[in-house]
Amino acid sequence: MSPAVAPTVSHHASNDYQSALKPIWCPGCGDFGVLTAVYRALATIGRAPHEIAFVSGIGCSSRIPGYTTAYGFNSVHGRALPIAQGIKLANPDLLVLVAGGDGDGFSIGGGHVPHAIRRNVDLTYIVMDNQIYGLTKGQLSPTSKRGLATVSSAYGSLEDPVNPLLYVLGYGAGFVAQGTPADMGGLVAIIEAGIRYRGFAFINIQSPCVTFGSPDAQLKQHKLGMKSLEKMGHDSTDRLRAMDLAQTYGTELYTGILYRDPAPRPTYDDQVRERHAQLRVAALPKDRILDRFKPE
Ligand code: SF4
Repeated sequence: MSPAVAPTVSHHASNDYQSALKPIWCPGCGDFGVLTAVYRALATIGRAPHEIAFVSGIGCSSRIPGYTTAYGFNSVHGRALPIAQGIKLANPDLLVLVAGGDGDGFSIGGGHVPHAIRRNVDLTYIVMDNQIYGLTKGQLSPTSKRGLATVSSAYGSLEDPVNPLLYVLGYGAGFVAQGTPADMGGLVAIIEAGIRYRGFAFINIQSPCVTFGSPDAQLKQHKLGMKSLEKMGHDSTDRLRAMDLAQTYGTELYTGILYRDPAPRPTYDDQVRERHAQLRVAALPKDRILDRFKPE
């Protein structure tokens, strides 16, 4: 088993993970809060920055790896998950974080999410869900609510949004949580729990876009409307109840861990590691595959 989340006693502070690069997000953007929560969660976990790889796609939120001292890869639109899976398989000892926006994850990269889930690669996937394409100046995104007027839907959206929570639960994700920077303590806790979960962990963060986002999806509304799953006494091992709650995405803001598999499946990276170990002890085959293609 890889030491992705050890040690338990941290010798690192939040600012150990803070790079010299200053974020260029708009003042008040929810992504600032997400970044702070990531710093704090990493400090609690205690892995050294050089033992962490942080991969993102494209978008405002995908700038986040550059603001940390971890190895960062601001990659290709919608392709953060396959790249992160490759990194984890190449070096399973790394703690691998993946981040992006709702468009990156559920439109351009939507086809990659089920495969990361079914393989159960040990990654923590953080989606900063602001229901808008912010970087390109405010077009409809896959999680925009029906009726939202944007530069690409001047008369209001005619589409129903993707439900990210139900999407990942439906595909069998073993860890699913939701948070908001309006609840910093809760946000740090779910990021830490996601990192500690062995397997694919999905964290949907309602991270308001103050410049192009819907006026009724800002931190002020989050503070007024958020409902703590812990305070509600939600049983996070109950997948069907989690799916019930997830159906209210867009109308209710439940924060905390919706689902954590009490008996997680083996991770893909552990299985690969075991297979390698078996092959090392097995007698090397006399007939190597490439030898079959040598000219006579
Ligand atoms: Fe944040 Fe929106 Fe500004 Fe992008 S455009 S940095 S998402 S507030």
